[in-house]
Amino acid sequence: MTAAGFSEPAKKHLGQHFLHDQRMIGRIVDAVNPRPGEALVEIGPGQGAITFPLLRRHGELTVIEFDRDLIAPLTAAAEGVGTLRILHRDVLSVDFTALAGGLASDGGNRIRLVGNLPYNLSSPILFHALDHAAAITDMTFMLQKEVVDRMAAGPGSKVYGRLGVMLQAFCNVVPLFTVPPGAFRPPPKVDSAVVRLVPLPPDRVRVEDRALFARVVREAFGQRRKTLRNALSATCDAEAIEAAGLSPQARAEQVPVDGFIGLANLLAHRDASTGRD
Ligand code: SAM
Repeated sequence: MTAAGFSEPAKKHLGQHFLHDQRMIGRIVDAVNPRPGEALVEIGPGQGAITFPLLRRHGELTVIEFDRDLIAPLTAAAEGVGTLRILHRDVLSVDFTALAGGLASDGGNRIRLVGNLPYNLSSPILFHALDHAAAITDMTFMLQKEVVDRMAAGPGSKVYGRLGVMLQAFCNVVPLFTVPPGAFRPPPKVDSAVVRLVPLPPDRVRVEDRALFARVVREAFGQRRKTLRNALSATCDAEAIEAAGLSPQARAEQVPVDGFIGLANLLAHRDASTGRD
C-alpha cells in the first residue's frame, strides 16, 4: 500500500525507505517545531510522510526531490494543504546559501533543513551542508543509527573518526532518538536515528583554514593505527605536532576535536609566515 496518489514502488538506488509510523513522524515534526516566519527546507520528501504534517503545521515548505516520478503526486497532494515549493533537483547541486537568500523572510537569510536522508548519500549531504553552514539555522536529519553514533562520538570511542571531527568543529551534534526498521516501508536492514545539528555562530568557529583542517583530519584518520607523526608525515613534522600541544606518538582516535583545530591553525600560521601553501 502507498500513500494516496503515490503508486510507484520504492526505488532502492535512491535510498527510498518511506516512513509510515505516525508516532515517529509526530516526534520528528515536534523536534523541528517550526516557528512563524522560518524558512523550512526538506531534503527528499518522498511520498510526503514528514512533508504534509510539516506543511499543515507551518503552511509553507520547500522540498528538494530527485525522483521525477514523485513530483506530480507531491504537487497534487499539496493542493489545499499549504504552499509547497518543489525543487526537482539533486540536493548535492543545490546552493543552500543562494536558496536561503531567496527564501528567508526573517531577515536572517537562513534556512532550517529537515530530512529522512537517502542513506547512501548521507555523508556527502552532511559535508555539502557544512559548506553552507552559515546559511543554516539547524538540521534535523534521520540517518543510519551507526552514522549518528559516529557523528556524535568523542575521542577514545571506537567510532570516533573523520566524520565526527569535521562535524563537531563546525556544529553542535545532538542525537535525539532511535527509530526501528519497522517504522519504514520497505524496512531498512539497520536501526535509524534522528539527530540535530546546530552550526556554531561564525565567531565561535575556531578553524582558520577549512581546507588545511580537512586535510589534517583526513590524513590523521587515513590509517587509524598509525601515530600522528607517521600519519601526518606528508603535512607536518613532529615538532609542529608538539608545538600544537599534541604527542607525535598519539593516534588520531585519542585526539580531541580542539587538538586537530589547534594543529591545523598552527600550520596555517606557519604556512602564511613562510609563504607555503
Ligand atoms: N521523506 C520520505 C519519508 O520519510 O518517507 C522519504 C525518505 S527516503 C529515505 C529518501 C528520499 O530522498 C527519497 O524520496 C529519494 O527519492 C530522495 N533522494 C534520493 N537521492 C536524492 C538526491 N540526490 N537529491 C534529492 N533527493 C534525493
